Amino acid sequence: MAQEKIPQATAKRLPLYYRVLQHLSESGKQRISSSELSEVVKIDSATIRRDFSHFGALGKKGYGYHVERLLSFLRNTLNQDELTKVMLIGVGNLGTALLNYNFLKNNNIKIVKAYDTNAHKVGTMIGETSIHHIDQLATDDNHDISVAILTVPAEAAQSVAETLVSGGVNGILNFTPVRLSLPKDIRVHHIDLAVELQTLVYFLNNFPLKNQGGE
Ligand code: ATP
Repeated sequence: MAQEKIPQATAKRLPLYYRVLQHLSESGKQRISSSELSEVVKIDSATIRRDFSHFGALGKKGYGYHVERLLSFLRNTLNQDELTKVMLIGVGNLGTALLNYNFLKNNNIKIVKAYDTNAHKVGTMIGETSIHHIDQLATDDNHDISVAILTVPAEAAQSVAETLVSGGVNGILNFTPVRLSLPKDIRVHHIDLAVELQTLVYFLNNFPLKNQGGE
């Protein structure tokens, strides 16, 4: 498929499309219309058509989109053919939960290594992931790992993030409440679960949804 530069807003929706199309393919579906897909992903069909047009997929009238063709495009674009190795720093409650979560089930992503300060945790394994001492992070050769998940306590976040960046990490999924100060070429995605929950509750209380049939 022809490929132009995909806008960021579209790029953000690709993993969702990928996951849904995977399920559809597994259930034997060969083609799908943008309106059917719209029902499943809860994104309006005009947006879906615009998104898909960016990667050269033009649905045919009365036929819709070819599921396998879309999947193969998304697999390539999302690098699904290649395993993305990730490390996780801070094996507390949240870190442990993430280590136990099977990212490989839907995505070709695996947490291959974890770090912590706690002597009781260092040297143990969670699933297939070994836990190393944080002091080794600066000297370990992790050149094949460019993404890290940060689940350390807030006070450790900035310095751990700096060590990660010195070691060659250029993408951080930050679960701490700290706004990290890092060089501009480092991509940080911030997930503050407490803030997300609080925002949801605030919106529920202040902006109740009328039944409008989706977003
Ligand atoms: P969570 O916030 O995930 O629920 P928790 O309450 O179990 O965690 P925290 O105090 O938030 O524990 O610490 C998370 C983990 O980070 C712990 O396992 C702790 O040992 C580890 N940790 C603390 N400081 C550092 C550090 N500088 N580098 C790496 N790991 C650290």
